[in-house]
Amino acid sequence: MNTYLIENEKSRCCGCAICSFACPTKAIHMDYDDEGFAFPAVDDSLCVKCGKCKAVCPMDVFKKQEEQATAYAAYSKDNAIIKTSSSGGIFAELAKKFILSGGKVCGCTIDDEHQVKHILINCVDELSLLQGSKYVQSDLSNCLNKLSALLKQGEKVLFVGTPCQVSAVKNHFDCKSLITVDLLCHGVPSQKLFDFYIKYLEEKHKGKLTEIVFRDKEKFGWSITQRYKIQKKNKIKTYYLERHTSEYFSGFLRNMTQRESCYSCPYTTINRVGDITLADFWGVDKVRPDLLNLDGTSLIFVNSKKGENLIEQIKDRIFISEVSFDDAIYQNINFVSPPRKHALRSRIYDLIFKYGFKEIGKKHLLPKNSYKYKIAQFLNINVTKMRLLRRK
Ligand SMILES: Cc1cc2nc3c(=O)[nH]c(=O)nc-3n(C[C@H](O)[C@H](O)[C@H](O)COP(=O)(O)OP(=O)(O)OC[C@H]3O[C@@H](n4cnc5c(N)ncnc54)[C@H](O)[C@@H]3O)c2cc1C
Repeated sequence: MNTYLIENEKSRCCGCAICSFACPTKAIHMDYDDEGFAFPAVDDSLCVKCGKCKAVCPMDVFKKQEEQATAYAAYSKDNAIIKTSSSGGIFAELAKKFILSGGKVCGCTIDDEHQVKHILINCVDELSLLQGSKYVQSDLSNCLNKLSALLKQGEKVLFVGTPCQVSAVKNHFDCKSLITVDLLCHGVPSQKLFDFYIKYLEEKHKGKLTEIVFRDKEKFGWSITQRYKIQKKNKIKTYYLERHTSEYFSGFLRNMTQRESCYSCPYTTINRVGDITLADFWGVDKVRPDLLNLDGTSLIFVNSKKGENLIEQIKDRIFISEVSFDDAIYQNINFVSPPRKHALRSRIYDLIFKYGFKEIGKKHLLPKNSYKYKIAQFLNINVTKMRLLRRK
């Protein structure tokens, strides 16, 4: 059995659900803990001790790329694509090319009920469903059957996800027609916490939340700004919250709400698992101001020949320039180590569920100087852009 199923130690399970999917006797099912994170549970009477759950587990088996990676700064030449993406829009360019050449793309969406999950798409019109980071653990289990069927038929699939998800998929499926993109990852909060946050916003504004976007660029450009829409009767109002003024974002970025396994993530290294790695090129303004795009610069690691071929195919659609590893990881700590667990982590979910986001937000989640950012936000001052422009 995999290490988690033997030891029941939460830090040993990333919740990808691949063990449950791969189990030949269906002895494993996924359960949720009080915080809303999924963990496998085994029915001993059905287990035949075949070891499949260990062989596919990304916390036990790491198939990292063997070739030496190359790092690049890049962004799409299409500003409309950059504006609707988290960083430089490289995912959308890759996915578009892949679909136009007859492939399918498996990535993460947020549905009408605000549930974050992986889906498969096969037309360019659906690309917007996948664009943009969702800072919630995505449920993979929905699409594994479809993914399996496609790969068995030898269909070309581009899979995009967190490194543990990419690893899970690579451990279980035949990779001949599969190409993978992993994201530099800071960890994931649970869907239950996100549901609770949405309820809080709806109660606060006395309306129905109709849309939430984690990386808005309309208001403050390339930054970490959340946008959401609240419907009251027939009117819809849009709200923007910069990272220091959103209770959800603040808790996440201060490492209070990640899944337990994220704090000892084995994938926070420059030896990547995907054919390509995508990240925000935070710090580009300091190390290579010539490569700064105010709407977003992506950092790309090309980790394999397959990855190199795919990037080659979009070269006319993007601006791309090689950078040194030192410059690449300068401000991207998650290439070197996992997020550092906040002292309040073990109690924060309990506190939020008991006292609510409003009270715990003020007391613990928001930084002490949050009011300064609220004022800047109110005055429409773009703090991130001012900082970036100072360097340009
Ligand atoms: C949970 C999470 C944490 C991240 N942490 C960092 C970080 O610390 N530093 C950093 O530089 N970059 C981080 N990123 C990556 C960054 O936010 C961008 O996704 C990346 O730069 C690609 O941007 P893009 O403009 O090319 O594509 P985008 O249009 O942003 O496309 C994003 C792709 O990510 C996938 N995706 C979105 N949400 C999830 C999810 N919850 N789970 C799995 N896949 C998802 C989508 O399917 C899509 O394919 C993180 C992303 C996620 C999802």
